[in-house]
Amino acid sequence: MYLHHNLLLTPGPTPVPKEIENAINSPLLGHRSKDFETLADQAFKAMKPIFGTENDVLILTSSGTSALEASMLNIVNPDDHFVIIVSGAFGNRYKQIAETYYEHVHVYDVEWGQAVDVNAFKSYLESLDVEITAVFTQFCETSTTVLHPVKALGQAIKDFNDSIYFVVDGVSCIGAVDINMADSQIDVLVSGSQKAIMLPPGIAFVAYNDRAKARFNDVTTPRFYLNLDKYIKSQDKSSTPFTPSVSLFQAVIKYAEIVEREGFSKTIARHNTIKDAGRKALTALDLPLLVEDAYASPTVTAFIPKDKDELNFIKNELKSRFNITIAGGQGKLKGEILRVGHMGKVNPFDILTFVGALEILLTEFRNTSYLGKGTQSYLEVIQNDL
Ligand SMILES: *Cc1c(COP(=O)(O)O)cnc(C)c1O
Repeated sequence: MYLHHNLLLTPGPTPVPKEIENAINSPLLGHRSKDFETLADQAFKAMKPIFGTENDVLILTSSGTSALEASMLNIVNPDDHFVIIVSGAFGNRYKQIAETYYEHVHVYDVEWGQAVDVNAFKSYLESLDVEITAVFTQFCETSTTVLHPVKALGQAIKDFNDSIYFVVDGVSCIGAVDINMADSQIDVLVSGSQKAIMLPPGIAFVAYNDRAKARFNDVTTPRFYLNLDKYIKSQDKSSTPFTPSVSLFQAVIKYAEIVEREGFSKTIARHNTIKDAGRKALTALDLPLLVEDAYASPTVTAFIPKDKDELNFIKNELKSRFNITIAGGQGKLKGEILRVGHMGKVNPFDILTFVGALEILLTEFRNTSYLGKGTQSYLEVIQNDL
């Protein structure tokens, strides 16, 4: 058996809709033309509802990590103390960026697979004997598949000291979650293109509030390509400081059109239904979940095979026999978990295919029949939403 169309179920990059591919292939515009200004202005505005922000969203031509780096260099001054919440591989990335540029980095470790405990974090802030400038966290920690309670976290941080900037990495969930930056007290929210936003890799987004905008202008940390003040000054003129990925700007507008057609609340609901159904199915297949329901991401799910042989069998056979690509673990979870992405251009039947293939593989590997067990649980959840 071989599925001629591949099913890319990694937590980025994700499949790109045909309409978006076509938009990418439309003729290029000169980036200093009036036509591009119209396009750029539309693209900056189109992303506002997705980020739940009042301001136009900045678009950088670089991968998601550049937006993480920019979100730090444009908020934190060289001598500032600030906190990084590390709950997985991407928290580690924020930490690595911080340690590249700064001396006073405070790391708040969260056990991998757990969500940040807001009260414990508040006590931690109270225990610090220095004034801090900012707190950085992931929204979805892709490596563990936890969705952190950013709204409660934002509230706790501002209750503690409302001058602290709250900066959130939403690379693997923006486009699939209901977020309002003001309600969640987020000053800067960043994302990439190749995850729930279902574009190819290559651009990154920075959403900011007015307070952050003023800060971008004041901060003295050296930066050049990632100087967000330059991007804002260009944005005011419907432009970008450097040559942008014109093709992906065209794709952004098409993306926003697709979301509008579905209705953003339905897009979010679709991700949640698939998440719930997938979790029921994996449980029915005796594949324990890494993350508890309350903090499970709507975009990616981690499960724990019985041992390394089973893990390798599932991952390799899914690819070679079913043309389905899923992801392994990262960092200390490498070889311990598998992760299935379900974001962007994903419909319930894509994941049903994955569940069906898993049933066949587990039946073979464990020598006991799983046929129908996962798919039945899966369908019982999605039938209510179809
Ligand atoms: C993928 C990802 C990134 C990094 O994005 P790149 O585009 O690979 O640079 C950062 N943070 C999170 C949470 C991610 O999932």
